[in-house]
Amino acid sequence: MALRQIRIMGDEKLEKVCRPVKEMTPKLRQLVQDMLDTMYDAGGVGLAAPQVGILKRIVVIDTSTEGKDPHVLVNPVLLESSGEQTGQEGCLSLPGQAGIVTRPNHVKIKAYDENMQEFEMEAEELLARAICHEMDHLEGIMYVRHVEGELFEVTPEEEEA
Ligand code: ZN
Repeated sequence: MALRQIRIMGDEKLEKVCRPVKEMTPKLRQLVQDMLDTMYDAGGVGLAAPQVGILKRIVVIDTSTEGKDPHVLVNPVLLESSGEQTGQEGCLSLPGQAGIVTRPNHVKIKAYDENMQEFEMEAEELLARAICHEMDHLEGIMYVRHVEGELFEVTPEEEEA
């Protein structure tokens, strides 16, 4: 298991638009594995490559509450979104804080997996929120830009993304 250092808000890597992955290399495979390890170790539900300093369009997400159900999204594209959900959101790049963000309640995306096989995926509620949050990171956007009202402090147990 290899953990990568998570960049904290203010780091310039978190403000850049990431580049598409053209092919899966051993180095990128290792990155995906390290991102999963780092996300699970930090207790997050998602992690985007720029959060570990790599400006590539790769995110990992796992919103399952029992066991592991990792999703690896390479070059994800939003196809459809509908509905609305308003709720608490946090980020591993801004530990100890959270804010209220409104996101679509349902999304449909297209992406490639770690073997560069294209797939489509539909998601609702927390998983849809996590997908939107992580895809924002690929555009250099932190969730704080969407926060309604003020950020507030949370204890580690209350943190989610
Ligand atoms: Zn985040």
